[in-house]
Amino acid sequence: MKIAFVGLGNMGGGMAANLVKKGHSVNAFDLAEAALAKAKENGCTPYTNVREAVQGVDAVVTMLPNGKIVESVYTADVIGHAPKSALLLDCSTIDVDTARKVEAAAKDAGYEMVDAPVSGGIAAANGGTLTFMVGGSDEAFAKAEPILACMGKAVIHAGASGAGQAAKICNNMLLGASMVATCETFAMAKKLGLDLQTFFDISSKASGQNWSMTSYCPVPGVGPQSPADNDYQGGFATALMLKDLMLAMEAAKSVGANVPMGERAAELYKAFADAGQGGLDFSAIIKTL
Ligand code: NAD
Repeated sequence: MKIAFVGLGNMGGGMAANLVKKGHSVNAFDLAEAALAKAKENGCTPYTNVREAVQGVDAVVTMLPNGKIVESVYTADVIGHAPKSALLLDCSTIDVDTARKVEAAAKDAGYEMVDAPVSGGIAAANGGTLTFMVGGSDEAFAKAEPILACMGKAVIHAGASGAGQAAKICNNMLLGASMVATCETFAMAKKLGLDLQTFFDISSKASGQNWSMTSYCPVPGVGPQSPADNDYQGGFATALMLKDLMLAMEAAKSVGANVPMGERAAELYKAFADAGQGGLDFSAIIKTL
């Protein structure tokens, strides 16, 4: 297929390269010249603007920072410029309302579009092992699946338009809250005089078991290798966790959901990021507990 890819940053760069590896021809665009040059090295064809990049393509994939940018790229440069037959796939993490609004605009103009945010970080984007949560019609999902499968290990249909974004922020709200709970628990276990490896051995096989503990333990030297073992470098940045928690708070407000644990996690991550720690992995919140 001929695919236009817009947004070749930390995530999009690797994703576009994987589409090329799977035999697709990729027209690439990013505002940053360095990102575009790297995409060229990876076999993409660089373009100087979105409108030209989407000419004659079978699909358009975007991986952009936020909803405002996604909306402006689609309404100004994709809708009405890509062929109507092109499937539109936005893989960015954005708010549910904007995702639905952009998808409605695309539909009105005769396009099929899905929201397909990802779980998994930069390593998964480079390695082609992302998990995609897809919102859109059955027909659009059927067309999106083989494209997304080139970049991921799992492609799941979450429901109608916006459902991918809803699943993503619900999952990440749970992740943020469970990471804080895991961190405060280890901090308390230490104060109570428990050996932390011993506590891990117990709790990881008991009812407190959760992903933040067993797959991503925030305590250095305990559990499998995680960013904690690398001084909290790499992994999933606190700033990105905060972004997702803020999107979750916005969504909770818009539907009147009562989310006290998510709210508290958002406050704690905001304070941590405001203290200049936004670049550290999100498990580093243990330092404040
Ligand atoms: P990034 O900042 O590295 O990349 C975004 C890219 O978009 C940049 O290269 C930027 O130049 C480009 N861009 C911005 N505005 C543009 C425009 N108008 N036209 C074309 N290009 C434009 O960010 P990232 O880490 O790659 O994240 C991208 C998306 O993926 C975000 O929505 C983020 O929340 C989500 N996400 C990131 C991770 C992660 O671990 N980094 C994990 C899951 C989801």
